[in-house]
Amino acid sequence: MQDKNGNLETPLQFLKGVGPKKAELLKKEGINTIPDLLYYFPRKYLDRTNVKKISSLKIGDRATVLGKVLTSGSIPGRKKVFEAIITDGSGNLALVWFQGHNYLKNIIKKNVVLSVTGEVGEFRGLNMVHPEYEILQEIGDTENLLHTVGIVPLYSSNAAWMRAGLNSRGLRRIINNAMGLCADKLDDVLPEMIRSELDLPPIDRALKQVHFPESEKGLKDARNRFAFEELFLLQTAIAIIHHRYQKQKKEHEYKIPGLLLKEFKHNLPFKLTSAQARVLGEIFDDMKSTAPMNRLLLGDVGSGKTVVAVASILYAVENGYQAAFMAPTELLAEQHLSTISRMLEKAGVRICLLLGSQKPAQKNRLRKMIKAGEVDIIIGTHALISENVEYHKLSLVVIDEQHRFGVAQRARLRGKGDNPDLLVMTATPIPRSLALTVYGDLDLSVIDTMPPGRKPIKTAVRQDNARNKVYDFLKNELDKGRQAYIVYPLIEESEKVQLKAATDEYERLSAEIFPDYRLALMHGRLSPEERDRITRDFRAGKIDILVATTVIEVGVDVPDATVMVIENAERFGLSQLHQLRGRVGRGADQSYCIMITGSKSTDIAAERLAAIASTQDGFKIAEFDLRLRGPGEFLGEKQHGLPDFRMADIIRDLDLLNVARKYAFDIVSKKIKLSSEELSSLKNEVMKRYSGMFDNLAAG
Ligand code: ADP
Ligand code: MG
Repeated sequence: MQDKNGNLETPLQFLKGVGPKKAELLKKEGINTIPDLLYYFPRKYLDRTNVKKISSLKIGDRATVLGKVLTSGSIPGRKKVFEAIITDGSGNLALVWFQGHNYLKNIIKKNVVLSVTGEVGEFRGLNMVHPEYEILQEIGDTENLLHTVGIVPLYSSNAAWMRAGLNSRGLRRIINNAMGLCADKLDDVLPEMIRSELDLPPIDRALKQVHFPESEKGLKDARNRFAFEELFLLQTAIAIIHHRYQKQKKEHEYKIPGLLLKEFKHNLPFKLTSAQARVLGEIFDDMKSTAPMNRLLLGDVGSGKTVVAVASILYAVENGYQAAFMAPTELLAEQHLSTISRMLEKAGVRICLLLGSQKPAQKNRLRKMIKAGEVDIIIGTHALISENVEYHKLSLVVIDEQHRFGVAQRARLRGKGDNPDLLVMTATPIPRSLALTVYGDLDLSVIDTMPPGRKPIKTAVRQDNARNKVYDFLKNELDKGRQAYIVYPLIEESEKVQLKAATDEYERLSAEIFPDYRLALMHGRLSPEERDRITRDFRAGKIDILVATTVIEVGVDVPDATVMVIENAERFGLSQLHQLRGRVGRGADQSYCIMITGSKSTDIAAERLAAIASTQDGFKIAEFDLRLRGPGEFLGEKQHGLPDFRMADIIRDLDLLNVARKYAFDIVSKKIKLSSEELSSLKNEVMKRYSGMFDNLAAG
């Protein structure tokens, strides 16, 4: 064992070809050990399997040639140009360099055998300018060629690395040295049984094939293995967290079968959809169980998540507990307060709102009431957990979020309470692959049908030169007593500029286009009171057109609003557009969404907009959006909790993800038994990569 680990633990700087300076530079990018270096995978590959005879070269070919140097040196009269003529017996080829003369003259000497790769050109005969080259012992010695023969790896490298010689060439060399030293000594984190069932190569072979592939097939298998490995390690971490929560006992207990709840449902102006009823059943089962609930409620915009949340809250409250409802922004928290207060008017529950922006005296008073159990439902923002709020008997936390928390952040959050039940609701649909990754530790409930009676929203894309027609259409709708939104994008980098754009537009629209109508401007810089007043006026029909930045994206619910006009639609993410569109179509009348694009917008933008115009299914749109923008962009937050995969692609590798998840959960629940060595090497690697996720978890 000693011997086995000895080489792996050799400090990087002592690896042949590294040294202290390069070791320091590698360290800056997180490469601290030899195994780290071996896991520094190529960014892409060059196909240099194409070794040709010089006589068969054609101008414009990219090819690799082996040959012996006949002459070399500077071209007479052009001192700075270095030229070597090589031959392979079938013909001659000139190699030309315009720099590096002093260096090259010591290396590319007469009789040296070279392998060169480059594009074939012509200048008084065939040549290659600045070819990639490698010195061989003799023609036929192609065994150990790293740079010029076969499928050749290219690595990412930054400017400092380049200066220190850590370009692809330098990296190939040291990675090859590391490989020779100890690739066969690495522990394989993938259990033998899984590897054989899925036909994945073992770690040493996979490393060899990923860095210096012998064939396309070898490379493909290796990438597949590493993609699986990444997904499997993450899912194992997630499974461990899931398992730990499953084993916990909560302090609280729900008994009363729900009289308030019955009354609440009875008083609703509608009947719950079958999807809502089913999901509510899943939530109640969790609440009644001895382990705390950890559930994700996934549903499209307008699918009716709020009423499900409120019913769960009511169930907790009538059992004598407190419930907290956390929203991502203050505006949303305020809107939830008004919706929930309205829904619970008859239930006689006590609700309060706790926000970070409230005055200290007010917050103090609220905190006292919460602690004394004088309120039942606490609605708020992060203030609910980040400030020193003590609860009386908190048994349920509902988070209405816009992809704000990843697994790690949530684990931290849960660590704060006394094992409260947790219900997370996403504001927009997210694809299953992302749900399994970012929300993988939660059980999933999906509301997959919409409340009945919704008319599909007619959606159109218009160029900005058709804007006047859009305005005419708007007037026509307004004259029928309807209301409208006109939304302008707010882009982070230039919030001020964009805000000015919205303000200018608002003034132009009020004075020139819609002088006979009542307009209001809504944006994030307004005080909560002002926003509240505008929202109320709009809801009460005192405003015809609400000109807004994206602050209206979530929350506002106005049945008479039937037209949504989105300016510069190409600047919004698809999910965001879908969410904006979801603001209309909430009443009985036909609704419209008109997306106006700048005339300079690209084909991709047009494709995206066409996609959203063609369907109303939020899950489909989300899939499409994810594929277009990639997961990081899709989630739109730095703190999204997405691991930094090098090989796996959660969109492309969805099947692999499902398989990895199943194995991980089966191993953690001991359905699959591993040897103790396999278990410990798996556990070590999971802890190494995902320790952050476990920081705030009770040991288990
Ligand atoms: P979201 O899932 O986007 O949060 P909401 O909870 O805001 O959706 O619900 C959207 C609208 O649908 C609300 O006006 C709500 O009152 C209404 N609604 C919810 N459930 C039903 C139902 N079963 N039947 C009819 N309307 C419903
Ligand atoms: Mg909602």
